[in-house]
Amino acid sequence: MGSKLSISEIFYSIQGESCYAGFPCIFIRLSGCNLRCNYCDADYTWDEGDSQEIGTVLSTVDDYPCRLVEVTGGEPLFQETSIQLLTELTARELTVLLETNGSIPIDRVPAGVTVILDVKCPDSGSKDSFHPGNIRFVKQRLKREANSCEMKFVLSSKDDYCWAKDFISHHELIDTLPILFSPVQKRISPSDLAEWLMEDGLNVRLQLQLHAILWPDISRGV
Ligand code: SF4
Repeated sequence: MGSKLSISEIFYSIQGESCYAGFPCIFIRLSGCNLRCNYCDADYTWDEGDSQEIGTVLSTVDDYPCRLVEVTGGEPLFQETSIQLLTELTARELTVLLETNGSIPIDRVPAGVTVILDVKCPDSGSKDSFHPGNIRFVKQRLKREANSCEMKFVLSSKDDYCWAKDFISHHELIDTLPILFSPVQKRISPSDLAEWLMEDGLNVRLQLQLHAILWPDISRGV
């Protein structure tokens, strides 16, 4: 019991986000999510998924010529067994990334995993979903292991930008971990976001979704 996961898709692509952007990467996309963001580009994960043994997932990963793997969703931590998957992946000496929406405590995520926390801004429709304990868990994790966390803010508006700026200032996060600001397509322009960042001299990274630039007409498996 407990060695199965509901999988939406496993695919091989170019990492489009995070400090690993540009590297070939295997993606394990788990199904199910506890949030309903209004810009979600993976809403097909909410209700669909194939039940797979962790051993089968690992065999699929082994078939790709790549040592970088990301566990994503949906919300991967929504499934208890994701912790076991992450443990097994790190034991294989892969570079393991976990993308999580920040609403579920990350304290059980095994050492060796880089946690990318996607903090939901107010205009995402998932306002106030961030689990407050995760700030402490991030700081503890960074103390134990440098570069073990990144934080991402996907922005729909100037209000979201100001909210994200206040969030990182209030929690004293600047210069403690990589912080990425990413514009929602067709809501704010990348050049506007670039201007705001330069005006404020904010030490965060502007992030564009590389996979969306490479494959603009493909919405799954990239
Ligand atoms: S957390 Fe991610 S998968 Fe879940 S609704 Fe929001 S964008 Fe979609």
